[in-house]
Amino acid sequence: MTEHAQKWKGESTRCRRLQTCIRKPPKGDHQRVLCVQKHQVLRIKIKNEEQVRKLQFLETLEHLKLDFWINPSTFSRPVDVRVPANSLQAVKVFLESHRIEYSILIKDLQAVLDREKQEMVASQQTERSSNTFNYGIYHSLSSIYEELDNLASEYSNVVSKLQIGQSYEKRPLYVLKFSTGGSNRPAIWIDAGIHSREWVTQASAMWIAKKLASDYGNDPSITSLLDKMDVFLLPVTNPDGYEFTHTTNRMWRKTRSKNAGSLCIGVDPNRNWDAGFGGPGASSNPCSDSYRGPSANSEVEVKSVVDFIKNHGNVVAFLTLHSYSQLLMYPYGYKCTQPADYAELDALGKAAANAIQSLHGTTFTVGSICTTIYQASGGSIDWSYDYGIKYSFAFELRDTGRYGFLLPASQIIPTAEETWLGLKTIIEHVRDNAH
Ligand SMILES: [Zn+2]
Repeated sequence: MTEHAQKWKGESTRCRRLQTCIRKPPKGDHQRVLCVQKHQVLRIKIKNEEQVRKLQFLETLEHLKLDFWINPSTFSRPVDVRVPANSLQAVKVFLESHRIEYSILIKDLQAVLDREKQEMVASQQTERSSNTFNYGIYHSLSSIYEELDNLASEYSNVVSKLQIGQSYEKRPLYVLKFSTGGSNRPAIWIDAGIHSREWVTQASAMWIAKKLASDYGNDPSITSLLDKMDVFLLPVTNPDGYEFTHTTNRMWRKTRSKNAGSLCIGVDPNRNWDAGFGGPGASSNPCSDSYRGPSANSEVEVKSVVDFIKNHGNVVAFLTLHSYSQLLMYPYGYKCTQPADYAELDALGKAAANAIQSLHGTTFTVGSICTTIYQASGGSIDWSYDYGIKYSFAFELRDTGRYGFLLPASQIIPTAEETWLGLKTIIEHVRDNAH
């Protein structure tokens, strides 16, 4: 572990985030603090059921403070896990002793985070001097919220901003409504960023908002769509988490609500929907990153969306953006049986994946949540499907693990462009088939 020792610092020095501080006995006047580098992300190749069980056991060892980016489920998919420096040796020994194959996906996570931050500061300076929102960079919550107002005023013929509730920490939940009038037209729901660290989703949602707004009246397909239907887009579903990823912990996934009887913060908002709530593939431990919460809809961010959709009464498609893994999934996650509309959803999912691939060659795997990743209860598209919204899909955007959640900003626009083609394929099918 000490092989990564960087430098000795005085007591007042704090180690950078994701570094680990080790206090050493005082020498002279100063207590010595050793900043240990290198959280790593490991990719683990699972070969059989027994190795799945070994990794699921590893997952339960809380003292290792592991952060599973992709959870162990089947042996068809690799497992990606962020390992704090202090646990690296133990984890590597564990894997090697069980003859489980792994490679190092990200050698020094802090270096990647530092690069991301520097890039963001530099591009924001350029952005400020040009006074236009740059859709190809990552933004703070406040600059995203500012841009929502700009879109609503620049394209007031088709865009308006609604507030559908507020987060646990009282931040507004803003939805952009794309509509050309009519009353209670069939509506498409799109949300992003329910998991806060999946930054390419919020950024893609913003690009898509601009695309929808600016294409109305220019692109015949968008025009005919918005002449018949409304689109509701929630670009930052978990604003507290998003703010926290900018200020404190880039790897934060959950909400920021307090848990009674625990010091651990937050609920996994995509285990909190009223669909198989409390079943397999969600944790009852408040310290887990997949903690389901005390009850379905306990998270106000989830409840606000549920209430909005119920009150609207005519939502015909529910589309949600996550990252990463390049998957396009339909129900179910809480159970492994096929949905009644399996044939239609599967064919439509494959058509959308083909559209995605046609642009930059990015390949998506299509299937139900259970067969594609793992059984996971309390997820949003299971709720929407069981509620009666047939066209319920979850996208997992780029990449397949080279950068994971830390996708470089240079990939935002290509990701958004291809995602839009996938969404559009689904939306056009809905337009022609939903009654
Ligand atoms: Zn997610």
